[in-house]
Amino acid sequence: MAYSLNQKIKDLEPYEPISGTYKIRLDANESPFSYTDEIKEKIAQAVKTIDYNRYPDPLAEDLCTAFAGFYDIDKKLVTAANGSDELISLVETAFLMKGEKLLFIAPDFSMYKFYSSICEVECVQLNKNPELKTSPEDVIKAVKDSGAKCVIFSNPCNPTGQGLNREEIRKIVSSVDALVVDDEAYMDFWDQSMLDEVENYDNLIIFRTASKAVSSAALRLGFAVANEKITRALKAVKSPYNVNSVSQKIGTIIFAEKEYFKKSLASIVYNRDLLYNGLRNCGCFTDDFIVYPTVTNFVFVKTTMALDIWKYLLSKSVAIRYMGDYIRISAGTDEETEFVLKEIENYLKNIKKN
Ligand SMILES: *Cc1c(COP(=O)(O)O)cnc(C)c1O
Repeated sequence: MAYSLNQKIKDLEPYEPISGTYKIRLDANESPFSYTDEIKEKIAQAVKTIDYNRYPDPLAEDLCTAFAGFYDIDKKLVTAANGSDELISLVETAFLMKGEKLLFIAPDFSMYKFYSSICEVECVQLNKNPELKTSPEDVIKAVKDSGAKCVIFSNPCNPTGQGLNREEIRKIVSSVDALVVDDEAYMDFWDQSMLDEVENYDNLIIFRTASKAVSSAALRLGFAVANEKITRALKAVKSPYNVNSVSQKIGTIIFAEKEYFKKSLASIVYNRDLLYNGLRNCGCFTDDFIVYPTVTNFVFVKTTMALDIWKYLLSKSVAIRYMGDYIRISAGTDEETEFVLKEIENYLKNIKKN
């Protein structure tokens, strides 16, 4: 007798973004700010009221109400999940039949492709142009040519840092028969959200997350926003107790803290611009360093020195994201941003001398 793992899982490795501990973490696009002491105190009081012997609220009503209030939308359109990661998996599994096609617009968030292989959906790929951009026309054509039943993309995009504006998204959503999943994980840093238009369409789902601008990656909170029909289907197919009571309670508090987030958002955007301009100035040391425009909280750079720069920064206890011929660097605090820029500059200066 012998049991063997099936083809689709036998070579998979557990997700481990980076091993080791580093003083400065700019590799996962998290917020550099944790909660204030005042917010932590409110949380400490609130968690005292949790009934730990009871299952969580399956529909996370208070949390969805707080999220809807934060973004000024109707709570009837909101589904809460255990991170948007759960939503990606859920939508690909439940809204597509085995063997149906999903359109992926490369480069984009790797999880879209990963889950498609698990749920036996065929992933069709459209490549972005050399500036790492795509157009609504290209996307519409690719959906039609491939017969994809769903197109999923991050907007603005991780890792490219660039995005399609509202008009371009409207064009895509209204021109395809497919389900359009618009992952707005970084839309807090830009102003082209489709959140308040979602009811105009029968084929649009928007994802949001508390893991980036909302400083709450530890809680694992993701949200889907869609019309009532799609929302009902999402709530029907999700696992009943997907968001635990502690995260529901803390998330409800966090989404009431508008002032705190206005302040931390301003600081992140300031450092994002500092990082972008600083990296652009590094162009004076080498031609092998292309910095892409960004409307997110990170900057994407193309260079054949990517691996060496990544290793060099690790040796200085700074973690950034290494991706083949590219590096992706998140905006940190003032000190972190200044430090990573200084070190990259040092590295490039030395290369130039040798
Ligand atoms: C970080 C990120 C998410 C967030 O996922 P969570 O599971 O909510 O932490 C979703 N989509 C994209 C494109 C991201 O970069």
